[in-house]
Amino acid sequence: MELFFLGTSAGVPTRRRNVSALALRPTGQSRWFLFDCGEATQHRILESSLSLFRLERIFITHLHGDHVYGLFGLLASRGMHRCEAPLWVYGPEGLGEMLEAVMRASRLTLPFDLHVVPLLGDETIELEGLRVSTLPLSHSIPSYGFVVEEARRPGRFDPERARGLGIPEGPLFGRLQQGHSVRLPDGRTVHPSQVMGPPRPGKRVAVAGDNDQPGRFEPWGPLDGLVHEATYTQEDFDRLEVKYRHTTARELGIAAERIGVGHLLATHISPRYDSPEREQELVEEIRSHFHGTVTLAYDGLRIEI
Ligand SMILES: [Zn+2]
Ligand SMILES: [Zn+2]
Repeated sequence: MELFFLGTSAGVPTRRRNVSALALRPTGQSRWFLFDCGEATQHRILESSLSLFRLERIFITHLHGDHVYGLFGLLASRGMHRCEAPLWVYGPEGLGEMLEAVMRASRLTLPFDLHVVPLLGDETIELEGLRVSTLPLSHSIPSYGFVVEEARRPGRFDPERARGLGIPEGPLFGRLQQGHSVRLPDGRTVHPSQVMGPPRPGKRVAVAGDNDQPGRFEPWGPLDGLVHEATYTQEDFDRLEVKYRHTTARELGIAAERIGVGHLLATHISPRYDSPEREQELVEEIRSHFHGTVTLAYDGLRIEI
């Protein structure tokens, strides 16, 4: 799966970071999914290789403005481009009302079917080769996480075994890799199972909305990738007079180690970490508790999981 970070700031944008948005594109496909749609997400999409025509589903983690205020503009633009493919938008209760109010006031009509699906708890959404499970999180308003799992992938092709069976290198190799049996020039038939290893489990990646209990992902571990907020260092958080329900770098590191995360992508960064030195404080705090790969996300980052 490919992840595109389109917005990585918490609460308000900065010069370098837009507010929350993340695109996920299954490997080798052009269709893609959007997780959250903060203001100006469409500008970041324009800077990427993603096309609004191939956007199929939008998942909104929660209804705070820094995660959803870009949705109205994005829908309107998709309409102005005359995209006619249907679009599904999943989000907490209240999202449908929000959309209706804006569309009614703006007299916005769309040339595509818009299906708004309210999230009500733990659910599973099947999407041709992908399964998305929803997970209620802990924040000041209802917030969700999403676990995206690929279907099992075919085993690896073994060229040595294929040569050993006398299969000539070339198009027949490709046919076998695609799961078709082939007939050799001497009349023998070779089946894919003779030259492929055992099926491999698909990748599993979780994308979290704002949340102060990252341990909620533990039952889903191990995870190949986890995208989760690390809004503050522990020290800065402890000093805040008013505390909102967010996760610190320390808490995220501890949870990720327990969950068993392959690649941890920390995002939703408070604007106070506005220099490479300050960003490094977050990374180091995570690393002192977590031994996997850590990346502090930035706008424009593209990662293959
Ligand atoms: Zn937020
Ligand atoms: Zn929030």
